[in-house]
Amino acid sequence: MKAIAVTPGTKKLTLLETAEPKLRTATDVKIRMLDVGICGTDREICAFEYGTPPRGDQNLVIGHESLGRVIELGPGATKLKVGDLVVPMVRRPCPHDTCVACRSGRQDFCYTGDFTERGIKEAHGFMTEVVVDDQDYMNPVPASLRDVAVLVEPLTIAEKALMQLEQVQMRMPWAQGVSLRGSMRWKKSAVILGAGPVGLLGAMAFANAGFDTYVYSRSGGNADKPRIVESFGAKYVPAETTSFEKLREIVGNIDLVYEAVGASKTAFDLLGVLGTNGVFVFTGVPGRKAPVEVDTDLLMRNLVLKNQVVFGTVNAGKETFAAAIKDLGAFVERWPGAVKSLVTGRFPIEAHRDLLLARPTGIKNVLAFAS
Ligand code: BGC
Repeated sequence: MKAIAVTPGTKKLTLLETAEPKLRTATDVKIRMLDVGICGTDREICAFEYGTPPRGDQNLVIGHESLGRVIELGPGATKLKVGDLVVPMVRRPCPHDTCVACRSGRQDFCYTGDFTERGIKEAHGFMTEVVVDDQDYMNPVPASLRDVAVLVEPLTIAEKALMQLEQVQMRMPWAQGVSLRGSMRWKKSAVILGAGPVGLLGAMAFANAGFDTYVYSRSGGNADKPRIVESFGAKYVPAETTSFEKLREIVGNIDLVYEAVGASKTAFDLLGVLGTNGVFVFTGVPGRKAPVEVDTDLLMRNLVLKNQVVFGTVNAGKETFAAAIKDLGAFVERWPGAVKSLVTGRFPIEAHRDLLLARPTGIKNVLAFAS
């Protein structure tokens, strides 16, 4: 079968021929890959800034945003059936008894760093024709989401942020026991920094949860992003012509920032206008560059005097995938056109080089391994 892989030793990206995997345990499931999304992490791996092959292997099959169809089940894999659509999870637990996170099935909070991630860290990924894994890592998706379910994995980032935010804001005495979703007891404005796939999906998730949502981004003259943002009821704020001070005037108290741009200087400058009792969520992983100047006195004063919280979030657990699948269904009901327009291109696997190595175009590009 075909697989798209990098070889860090020789810095090569190739379309390989490799053996089809077999079921190994009773609860294993075999899936045929349908769609695999391309994201910034894949591009970094292809630029050899990130990514590690499995031990003893020179190659790493890449790809971690995916959708597959079940084609074979082990005798104990009773949670799924042949023909089901599934989105596989990315991270697998570390082996250490002392890691309470991995031992609790929450490897997205792994303490040791010895987890593996399919398509990223020491485990082959999903840019291939057939994949095998345990049924517990495969999240079932309704057939009605066939065309957009490749967006589930990038949406899990926002879902995990929302879940943590809900817990963080329980610190507000009047918010205890009140769900953030739809409740007006916790006044909510959300600023999304960046309008790539993570930002736009985050904006939909926050808008769907009842936040008054603003997307702050450069449009570079592209009218599509502002149009998509407005189509699901959020407001587009052009970064080219709007300072952070002005943004604060437009929004009022900024209750939440969801950073989805990976530019640290911009993010820390935006932290400077976070509101009272506000929460700032980082999701980007910037490449290491030279240190930059930030106004640390201002940031520290605000953190203390305005009761602010800052947290970072990576990867996602099983309940987060379930929430993403449910919410994607809700988005499709509410804003079908907007969700569809996020998948800007479906390409044959032979197009992988241009998509992975050239400057990104569109919003979410997808490699179609099967239909
Ligand atoms: C993936 C996450 C992963 C992270 C760090 C992201 O692109 O979506 O699943 O944990 O990269 O490797």
